[in-house]
Amino acid sequence: ACPSAAVISVSLAYIKSIGAAAKLGIFVKGEDCIESMAMAETMVFDKTGTITEGRYVITDVFPVNMTERELLTTAASAEVFSRHPIAYALREAVGIRSAKDMKVTQVEEIPGRGVSAIVGDELVYVGNTALLEEHGISCELPSRSGAAIHVAIDGKYCGHILVADRIRSGAFDALESLRVQGIKKMVLLTGDVLSVARPLASKLNFDMLRAELKPEDKLSALAYLMSNKGSKSSVAFVGDGYNDRALMERVDVGIAMGALGSEAAFMSADVLVMDRDIRKLPKAIGISKLASHISLENIAAGICVNLAAAVLGAAGILSVTAAVIACFAVSAAVLINTLRLK
Ligand code: ADP
Ligand code: MG
Repeated sequence: ACPSAAVISVSLAYIKSIGAAAKLGIFVKGEDCIESMAMAETMVFDKTGTITEGRYVITDVFPVNMTERELLTTAASAEVFSRHPIAYALREAVGIRSAKDMKVTQVEEIPGRGVSAIVGDELVYVGNTALLEEHGISCELPSRSGAAIHVAIDGKYCGHILVADRIRSGAFDALESLRVQGIKKMVLLTGDVLSVARPLASKLNFDMLRAELKPEDKLSALAYLMSNKGSKSSVAFVGDGYNDRALMERVDVGIAMGALGSEAAFMSADVLVMDRDIRKLPKAIGISKLASHISLENIAAGICVNLAAAVLGAAGILSVTAAVIACFAVSAAVLINTLRLK
């Protein structure tokens, strides 16, 4: 009389899938996250640190009325406390390892824009065109295409630094696999300039690109995608857990890449990929789809066999012993079927 197969079928598959993901270094916070991943049809990606490596290199320096070294040192000093990948590149270029002995005060980091700080006794802005123009400073048009980081000291424009980041290895294949797995819409959101984002989006076949976005624009882009999804589908957001908490919390399932050691990612994401291997994304989706498939098979088998055994037993067609054996057999079958999730 105990329909054990039907009772255990769903939880068993989801719990086993969480274990299978953990073996690959993917930490899933709960069964509902597996379900949301399996239903994902729209996948939204942050660019820097997610699709790209997030390890910028400086490709050129264009100072105005100062030396290249002076421009780099000023920019790196203002960025001394920042955890943005661009800040790491600037500090590395001039060899700043710690903030000790540096005369940097009143640092303000403006997400999606850059930083402002008092360096020595000068007010320095380091960031994109939007940041400087908001403070009434007009920027030079970058002499070459690429992401330009502009610098201003005490309201005067001092030049720009070109930086570049590389697409993560395996990104193309990972995105293709996701498409085969049923992700219908791939969206790239970035605060970076269109001239950098467009070639990247077309190389990776993104269906939709929004560039030069402020953090609040990214939120409204997500809200739009959430309100336009089908009732039986979900929206996933993939970020690096750095300043994307609000986005992670807004979607059905937030996935953080390179989450090991990032407290912010642990707090906000539903799924944490411990390393930065983007190939783990299709693996995570694959596991969730298989779990959802197996749980449906299990529940169908559990209900059908138990019901048949009960009805046939009550009608006297099946002996009690045979009915009990059928119930146990389907429980065992459900267990064995679930073991497909390795
Ligand atoms: P993404 O959307 O690609 O993850 P972000 O939102 O982190 O990018 O940043 C968008 C843009 O804002 C960067 O491309 C850069 O121009 C500028 N920016 C943001 N933070 C910084 C910083 N700390 N230093 C310099 N520029 C910055
Ligand atoms: Mg980012």
